[in-house]
Amino acid sequence: MTLSKYPLKNEGKKKTEKNQTETTFKYQAEQFADVRVLRYQIPGFETLSLKQKTLLYYLYQAALSGRDMIFDQNYKHNLCIRKTFEQIIEHYKGDTNSDNYKKFLDFAKRVWVSNGIHHHYSMDKFTPDFPENFLAELIKKSPDAKFPFAKNETIAAFTKKLTTILFDTSLDVKRVNLNSEEDMIVTSANNYYSGVTQKEAVAFYNKLNKKGENTPLSYGLNSKLVKRNGKIFEEVYKVGGLYTEAIEEVVSWLEKAITVSECTAQKKALQKLVEYYKTGDLKTFDDYSILWLQDTESRVDVVNGFIEVYGDPLGKKGAFQSMVSIKDLEATKRAKTISDNAQWFEDHSAIDKAYKKKKVKGVTAKVIDVVIESGDSSPSTPIGVNLPNAEWIRKDYGSKSVSLANIVLAYDESGKDSGAIEEFAYSKEEIDLAKKYGPLAGNLHTDLHEIIGHGSGQLKPGVADPSETLKNYSSTLEEARADLVALYYMMDKKLIELGVMNTLDVGKSEYNSYIRNGLMTQLFRLELGKDLEESHMRNRQLIAKWAYEKGKADHVIEFKKKGKKTFVVINDYAKLRKLFGDLLKEIQRVKSEGDYKAGKALVENYGVKVDHILHKEIKERFAKLNIAPYAAFINPVLVPVFVKGKVTDVKVEYPENFLEQMMFYGKNYSFLPVYS
Ligand code: ZN
Repeated sequence: MTLSKYPLKNEGKKKTEKNQTETTFKYQAEQFADVRVLRYQIPGFETLSLKQKTLLYYLYQAALSGRDMIFDQNYKHNLCIRKTFEQIIEHYKGDTNSDNYKKFLDFAKRVWVSNGIHHHYSMDKFTPDFPENFLAELIKKSPDAKFPFAKNETIAAFTKKLTTILFDTSLDVKRVNLNSEEDMIVTSANNYYSGVTQKEAVAFYNKLNKKGENTPLSYGLNSKLVKRNGKIFEEVYKVGGLYTEAIEEVVSWLEKAITVSECTAQKKALQKLVEYYKTGDLKTFDDYSILWLQDTESRVDVVNGFIEVYGDPLGKKGAFQSMVSIKDLEATKRAKTISDNAQWFEDHSAIDKAYKKKKVKGVTAKVIDVVIESGDSSPSTPIGVNLPNAEWIRKDYGSKSVSLANIVLAYDESGKDSGAIEEFAYSKEEIDLAKKYGPLAGNLHTDLHEIIGHGSGQLKPGVADPSETLKNYSSTLEEARADLVALYYMMDKKLIELGVMNTLDVGKSEYNSYIRNGLMTQLFRLELGKDLEESHMRNRQLIAKWAYEKGKADHVIEFKKKGKKTFVVINDYAKLRKLFGDLLKEIQRVKSEGDYKAGKALVENYGVKVDHILHKEIKERFAKLNIAPYAAFINPVLVPVFVKGKVTDVKVEYPENFLEQMMFYGKNYSFLPVYS
């Protein structure tokens, strides 16, 4: 599970916890459309051994080798579009200073950021700002380009096809449609299903799921479900199966990585991962996940596989993702303190006793610095991850929870002086609190959400996995549950006792920012006229709005006006904490009992509908601040140094040009054919 694509409050001037030796590093590279492009460094890389650096280099290559897959998973035409754009950018002989060409480049960048033509966050299709006929000109004036024509396709037919795909605003408008009133499979543009209806897909997987199975496989995770000639079957992502061209590359680098692994546990895990890629066997994937969990000593870590299921309305299909990282030794101490006390947090939680874990198992918490990310988690990355996702493994073996320190730092540093906190906080006191405690509060929230939140609670015996019972609402409710655990403890003296903060003002600052974000500022990322769709955004509004409504009689949270501007103020932090506890208890019950009806009502009543007048106001206020609502990241580059054919060192470079990096990836890591 990913905590969030964005920190809750990259809104203001902040001192980070780390010393400011890196202030000369330029964190923001550029801004276009609704995206700011950030850079990040890898602290401590130079102190690693040659073996560790070499391992990182191989895992880095494995990560990038899988990149094409996410484009195809997101939408069947994405590879064709991306490869066409790359060819144009390389070969276009027309005027590259023209207004239309600049608009084309901006559009290409957006496609790279979203790994396709659907917005990475809203899931909505976006269309070019340049005119339709300019696409024909781009293609025509690139005579040396090698376009991905289909068999016997003429340039005219190719141009026409692409024009329709890009410009038709009624075609494939949503990558993931979570509207349960419709056939969510047929109306979603993702490429996880072909020719099947939602009914057929559900029936197919219901047949595989045996009721009462203690260790159920994650059916559907690594395959596309296809109906052909009346038959429904899976095309499995594996060596020799779907995406074999990319997977073979991934495997070859993983096999190299095995030769330089840090310890036996890591070696075993990597070997299992290779076996999984070769067989596509989901039992092997579970075995791998357990081995991966058990490797807690290694400095180097990697996620590489079909992991998160947010891209599938049924929550089954895993998007390709890789995240290569090293442990941040200093920051891990804070996370470890929290994880060492996981049982205390479980015992004192607001949830019903019946749904508490008697024994919390191995919540391994660490803070990492990212070396590279690819696939689903790049260029836009989460700031925290808690894996594996299989509910039974989490219950029996625990989970690994990580927060991404160098990514958070990049957010913090680039968000300095943006003026957002001054614009949206109601009082001077609130601004001061945010500036003083914002980063720590954010980090603690992430730690609690990932280490305690996702790992806590248990299902009622006999109740199926939430993806079965709560269906399209399961992601939102799971994120809400984890957030509520974090919020509940942010105002607990236990955190002071543990030495991870020294005043409850940290918690106050977190409450301020959470409520402000959930009721107001997050709307800044939403297009006008829309309602909330994305799981994390739904979850945050659900919590904030529920607390607002339930605390209305006591004025716990109030909307206030200064002139025409709207603000939100918390009057009673203790009562708000109590409300968070109440909602946590209810959402845990919904999950534990698989109460679809109650879960649906919570999300639909509090997490979806947007106040359109307030929305407009927020957008206008943000527009004046000129901050793009989304961030994408340029990855570092690892460069091996060879002496007489042997690697003697690995150097890190931090490129500054997003377009160049994307073109470099396109040239060097494009292994999949264009299927359509
Ligand atoms: Zn989460």
